[in-house]
Amino acid sequence: DRDYIGFATLPEQIHRKSVKRGFDFTLMVVGESGLGKSTLVNSLFLSDLYKDRKNPDVSEKIKKTTSIEKKTMDIEERGVKLRLTVVDTPGFGDALNSEDSWRVCCNYIDEQFRQYFTDESGLNRKNIQDNRVHCCLYFIPPYGHGLRQLDVEFMKKLHQKVNIVPVIAKADCLTAPEIRKLKQRVLAEVAEHEIHIYQFPECDSDEDEEFKQQDKELKASVPFSVIGSNIVIEVEGTRVRGRQYPWGVVEVENPKHSDFTKLRNFLITTHMQDLKDVTEDVHYENFRAQCISQISQ
Ligand code: GDP
Ligand code: MG
Repeated sequence: DRDYIGFATLPEQIHRKSVKRGFDFTLMVVGESGLGKSTLVNSLFLSDLYKDRKNPDVSEKIKKTTSIEKKTMDIEERGVKLRLTVVDTPGFGDALNSEDSWRVCCNYIDEQFRQYFTDESGLNRKNIQDNRVHCCLYFIPPYGHGLRQLDVEFMKKLHQKVNIVPVIAKADCLTAPEIRKLKQRVLAEVAEHEIHIYQFPECDSDEDEEFKQQDKELKASVPFSVIGSNIVIEVEGTRVRGRQYPWGVVEVENPKHSDFTKLRNFLITTHMQDLKDVTEDVHYENFRAQCISQISQ
């Protein structure tokens, strides 16, 4: 059984001062209901964040609007503290009007920037809690033929505000060639619509060959195909997270079955700090510049 998720390498990603204070990281998950967002989050962080959640009640179903659901957990691994927040967006895409969907996410992200901006100009600048959204996993359905209008609209409205990392949901619904084709299609459409998804930083030239190879494979996997499951199954004597089908078991962490492990390593072990840096240096800086130009007008 794997009983750790890998963020204890964070000290290697950043200097000691922040290690003592602990890390804040916020992940937003966006995509239509039923694409496996909650299941994936639980699989990623080995926890049942949504276990007390009941099925949406009738009134929720009738409303059909996007809402924001925020969960925070403090986790510690080998003395490193991480305050992880997951922002879920139930109801996304359910409204007839697609503006409802992106606007709610957009407002939430802006609101966190505004709060940070206010705190930063206040007296207690040293202990600001960073609630800014550092990464947005955008779930693309496996059964379409690429991006839909809703997907394009969402990404275009938010790509200047947050690091968008597209994922192909429920990858076990597709064969390997179908996954390859859908990935190519999504990337072509991202380019065609001039959408700026998160750009991986160049790999340092002094890294070893193995690291460089892994980095290359990581970049080549975007948009990551993912599979989630809340169930642990025994496969040949080892217990794995998986989905049991009549014909066999799909294993969440098996790299032959999906890019789940790549995505988790990316988010937690290798690129968490870069996602935070880009948020600070690019997205937040854009927001700040706008605030300042408004004030001076
Ligand atoms: P959400 O509405 O996006 O949060 O989706 P949920 O996580 O609640 O999952 C919706 C349904 O899809 C549940 O029945 C899950 O068991 C199922 N599901 C979740 N992840 C996967 C997956 O990777 N593959 C398949 N085939 N089904 C999944
Ligand atoms: Mg959900």
